[in-house]
Amino acid sequence: MDIVIDEFEAITKDAERVQRETLRRILEDNTSAEYLQNLGLNGRTDLESFKALVPPVTHKDLEPFIMRIIDGEASSILTGQPIKTVSLSSGTTGGKPKFIPFNDELYETAMQINLISSAFRDREFPIKKGKALSFLYSSKQFKTKGGLTAGTFSTNVMRHEKTKSMVKQMEWCSPKEVIFGPDFQQSLYCHLLCGLIFSEEVQLVSSAFAHSIVQAFRTFEQVWQELCTDIREGVLINRVTVPSIRTAMSKLLKPNPELANLIEHKCKGLNNWYGLIPELFPNTKYIHGIMTGSMEPYVTKLKHYAGDLPLLTGDYTASEGCIASNVNPNLLPELATYAVLPHSGYFEFIPLSESQQHNGGSTLPRVDPQPVGLTQVKIGEEYEIMITNAAGLYRYKLGDVVKVMGFHNSTPELKFIRRSCLLLTINIDKNTEIDLQVAVAAAAKLIASDKLEVVDYTSHVDVSSEPGHYVIFWEINGEASAELLSECCNCMDKSFLDAGYTTSRRTNGIGPLELCVLRRGTFQKIQDHMLGFGATAFQYKTPRCIGPRHRAVLQILSENVMKSYLSAAY
Ligand code: AMP
Repeated sequence: MDIVIDEFEAITKDAERVQRETLRRILEDNTSAEYLQNLGLNGRTDLESFKALVPPVTHKDLEPFIMRIIDGEASSILTGQPIKTVSLSSGTTGGKPKFIPFNDELYETAMQINLISSAFRDREFPIKKGKALSFLYSSKQFKTKGGLTAGTFSTNVMRHEKTKSMVKQMEWCSPKEVIFGPDFQQSLYCHLLCGLIFSEEVQLVSSAFAHSIVQAFRTFEQVWQELCTDIREGVLINRVTVPSIRTAMSKLLKPNPELANLIEHKCKGLNNWYGLIPELFPNTKYIHGIMTGSMEPYVTKLKHYAGDLPLLTGDYTASEGCIASNVNPNLLPELATYAVLPHSGYFEFIPLSESQQHNGGSTLPRVDPQPVGLTQVKIGEEYEIMITNAAGLYRYKLGDVVKVMGFHNSTPELKFIRRSCLLLTINIDKNTEIDLQVAVAAAAKLIASDKLEVVDYTSHVDVSSEPGHYVIFWEINGEASAELLSECCNCMDKSFLDAGYTTSRRTNGIGPLELCVLRRGTFQKIQDHMLGFGATAFQYKTPRCIGPRHRAVLQILSENVMKSYLSAAY
């Protein structure tokens, strides 16, 4: 482990050279790619030519090239070597998955980041012998029209030949049949059961995202008695029907009335499930999973289940590449930063303060802000990230906004701020996922006194009638009075503070905000729907705004509205 840390220290001390070298390697390997040829790069691999000839792009710009690859055109389109696998991104903000090229080089970056962050974690929180209760879910890979293998990034990594050989060595509570099972709910139930069977050995509770851990323990609250029955009798509940999972579980499950009684006793002794995780798994050292960005809304609930256990956020990765590692695992999730890996891609940063100035109502022609290199970023500044990777993305805008909090040697430590796109906008109003998160959190405080929580939320801009208005959907874990919910609705309306919104509300350019309260389980239905389209539960993030094109999700939402409220006049 020390070797990994030493190597990381060396690379980050020399970040600028490593970046140039990484770019040179990527361009050299892909000299014959049609995309680079057409831009006139002609085999040049230096930074200056690259910046002069290759334009910044978004996924939309690359889509025609990616579609040709997916359709099976064998030539070197974006990369020197043909792409044989594509990843489906989760479509974090809007809920529409995108295809991203995947190859062995990208796989290696996933391995590297894992190695680096676990070395830093193990240094602070050593785990000796023991097991991990990891809520891992691998979805199916499928073949595209052109015969390429497609799956989510995590699935492509988990199902990679090299990982398959590693899976056997890992000390997970659950057998691989549970991880690779075809039914999410059945896998989740069995993960919990396996965790309980090995409860004394569990040293780590984890998943890719905090959402999956919270979801697992919310499920536990519903099914704990069934789990106890299974353990008492040594027979798996009928609801789990997948034969491979049943066979694998039957090898683990033996009648154990003492354990069932102990779990029952512990569950009955808890106050509103506070500290559930350490109570069930007393040797747990920490909880691990991404807890920043769109996962922030789940951290409060996670803390509730975790009691005094440390919460360690995971790395900063995307289907487009592994960006930065959590090398300060001691930091609380709210303060977490990610150190960029200078060898996992070539990174550029578009300053946002400049772009805000440039777009700030000036009559002068618009000048696009110039991207800066990894080592030129400034502490305290916010940037949009651009990545060049070894799988055919060149100067690709990732769509994330980050803030530079400091440096680890000469590589920046980033705080994840938000997705860069606007979520809610009707006319001159501009609200991001953070603005929505702040509004929901402010209103959620009003129901907290009644021991109620917003389990999950999303939003929609309704312009079907004039004036358009924001609709915010809540799923709550109990019944709140109409009076209280009206208050929540007003509170959210008043919490969007951008001048565009407040002015439009005052002048009725935007109508009253609508709060729709959903039936319990609606967000699970949305997740099930998205999983049906190839998303994986492991990489799943609730879409925070549902656009008009996502009719099926809008329909699920509208069919499950129990009550709705309109905010008062502004
Ligand atoms: P996907 O390609 O579906 O894996 O989604 C990648 C996106 O997830 C990134 O571009 C980020 O917006 C978000 N993400 C990944 N890791 C983190 C993290 N550690 N903190 C916050 N957001 C993250």
